[in-house]
Amino acid sequence: MKYDYLIVGAGLFGAVFAYEAKRAGKKCLVIDKRNHIAGNIYCENVEGINVHKYGAHIFHTSNQEVWDYVSQFAEFNHYINSPVAVYKDETYNLPFNMNTFSKLWGIRTPQEAKDIIEKQRAEYGVADPENLEEQALSLAGKDVYEKLIKGYTEKQWGRPCTELPAFIIKRLPFRFIYDNNYFNDRYQGIPIGGYTQIVEKMLEGIEVRLETDYFDFIKGNPDAADVTLFTGMIDEFYGYRLGTLQYRTVRFETEVLDCENYQGNAVVNYTEREVPYTRIIEHKHFEFGKQQKTVISREYSSEWKPGIEPYYPINNEENNGLYAKYRELADKEENVIFGGRLGHYKYYDMDKVIEAALELVKEEL
Ligand code: FAD
Ligand code: UDP
Repeated sequence: MKYDYLIVGAGLFGAVFAYEAKRAGKKCLVIDKRNHIAGNIYCENVEGINVHKYGAHIFHTSNQEVWDYVSQFAEFNHYINSPVAVYKDETYNLPFNMNTFSKLWGIRTPQEAKDIIEKQRAEYGVADPENLEEQALSLAGKDVYEKLIKGYTEKQWGRPCTELPAFIIKRLPFRFIYDNNYFNDRYQGIPIGGYTQIVEKMLEGIEVRLETDYFDFIKGNPDAADVTLFTGMIDEFYGYRLGTLQYRTVRFETEVLDCENYQGNAVVNYTEREVPYTRIIEHKHFEFGKQQKTVISREYSSEWKPGIEPYYPINNEENNGLYAKYRELADKEENVIFGGRLGHYKYYDMDKVIEAALELVKEEL
């Protein structure tokens, strides 16, 4: 049977595209190699708790159109992400704000904090930061960098901060008010009942085949569709012929605990190098859960190898250069388009994925 679109990947990008294409009267087939839809935003119900199986996901955006769009598919709660950082036996509020500075230096006013940071910036900062270490030292000074950034970042990315792009740390707010909201965005929340329902609704009435790998499928069905949208790894699509892009992967050690409240917060980061995991997620707190038990996941970050799930593209110069070459090949394709975190090799949040998918739909249809 011939489809207008073969959509590879039932993650958020593929689902938004499929939903819009169907609305425009197109016939779509969605395939995914996993045994479930929703890609990395998939939630699994354990003990009545929605467990974010592929890592904690908090929806946040400043784009009202995106917020209205996603709100068609779920009702969002009023969760505000406010992670806590543990360094040795000290605890700090994140992101970097007056609560953090007050705990670090025993001060109370913004001026006191600014004076300390200014002194440290003058000593360690640089005018034009070129890597993450220089960026962090120039923004926050030495104490914040050494206690709250260096160990965590090097664990998460497996590279020294001097070899990482500055933009990674620019994601985090840095403010001189007592405000622990991790994001600056206008809209934020968690879908009540988890994320999977969003993709489920988007894919309603669309044919979906799970446990179907594109590379096997296409051998037997080379003419399945007029156009293929590929949201897997772009370098894999091309058989790695120009070289292999680097990714980080995450392993989750998930446990059900017979206690009602394990850590008192959804996200607790362990910022010292010596603790092997980067953070512990206690899933029930995303939805203010009152269950008797709790589910926690410890996150371990490591380098991606073929055969395991890629999570984060590593957008340093070398990889971006290689991606640009794959992009040139992609731009020449007549019947294949690419999208998503892996297809665009970009550290996209969910709101940006929706924006990019809607943009692509507009171009295509
Ligand atoms: P994916 O969800 O990865 O979907 C791609 C799909 O394609 C997968 O299901 C995969 O199985 C399938 N696929 C790949 N190759 C093939 C193939 N060959 N054949 C068949 N199927 C294939 N964003 C936020 O906004 N807030 C957050 O708090 C947040 N936290 C995150 C935490 C972690 C640990 C990670 C990794 C990401 C986080 N994100 C967050 C980002 C968010 O996960 C992504 O923006 C979004 O899920 C990407 O959607 P996607 O469809 O591009 O990719
Ligand atoms: N970061 C840090 N200390 C923390 C939390 C984050 O240094 O306690 C830095 C780290 O470099 C990380 C980046 O900020 O890669 C972005 O963190 P975020 O929590 O936004 O990453 P994600 O949720 O995408 O894993």
